[in-house]
Amino acid sequence: MTNREDALIEKILRLKEQRNAIILAHNYQLGEVQDIADFVGDSLELSQKAAKIDVDVIVFCGVHFMAETAFILSPDKTVLLPDMHAGCPMADMITAEQLREKKTELPKAVVVCYINSSAEVKAESDICCTSANAVPIIEKLSHVEEIIFVPDQYLGHYVSTKVGRRLNLWPGFCPTHVKIMPEDILRLKQRYPEAKVIVHPECRPEVTSLADEVLSTGGMCRYAAQSAAKEMIIGTEKGIIHRLRKENPDKSFIPASERAVCPNMKLINLEKILWTLEEMEHQVKVPEEIRIKAKSAVDRMLEVV
Ligand code: SF4
Repeated sequence: MTNREDALIEKILRLKEQRNAIILAHNYQLGEVQDIADFVGDSLELSQKAAKIDVDVIVFCGVHFMAETAFILSPDKTVLLPDMHAGCPMADMITAEQLREKKTELPKAVVVCYINSSAEVKAESDICCTSANAVPIIEKLSHVEEIIFVPDQYLGHYVSTKVGRRLNLWPGFCPTHVKIMPEDILRLKQRYPEAKVIVHPECRPEVTSLADEVLSTGGMCRYAAQSAAKEMIIGTEKGIIHRLRKENPDKSFIPASERAVCPNMKLINLEKILWTLEEMEHQVKVPEEIRIKAKSAVDRMLEVV
């Protein structure tokens, strides 16, 4: 670590204390951001943690919908996103207006929305899900005739195969996870024959079908710690490799593709964390009417699983 980085970290920690703030980092953040965070995890896990902690300010090092989710659960706290341009292209692939139109086409359908969606889309949905609980959520809806699943077609496809029922899939996708190709996995499997292949359900079906395990980022961290495997090929955004190596120094983690980098996640760095705390910008808020409806969709998910 350079003297400059040391000084920066010292300033951030001092200001964090003065503001009575907490720093949350998603598993895909830069290593330097993960290292300074109070908690590293997936978006819902982080928002739930922040809601339980007595702080005034949440610095969310992730993308916009994650900061919104933190605000939905903690409306009395100030939620800061260190770079307002850190959006999620997949979440942006559906608007509330488009979802309303889809609901008019299928008026009897229940809408399940992946947590990677805007607050407005959550507010138009019946129930939320995460990549970890999407399968049990859809299973619990066995009595429902029709389901609209938004916005990730690949997570939806994976769940539909697991549960054995048809879902109306919105054609969204994660531009980072689709960069992981089946040939990347096949090449690495040849090179590391002992390695377990663990991929995220946002990957293409041709990739999930090659995996030993299909897991959320939280699931990957637990699997890495508990598994007897010493080598793992990891099919998700590359940032998680930092956490996996840090928590399991005796094991080896191989990114499935060097291309699997989310440019939005990488917009946040130490300088921007300092600036956000200095200027108390950029605050993420959700209008109360939308927040209440979006929270109902999140609460329903938590009641079900
Ligand atoms: S990795 Fe994919 S789903 Fe996650 S924030 Fe980036 S674009 Fe969105």
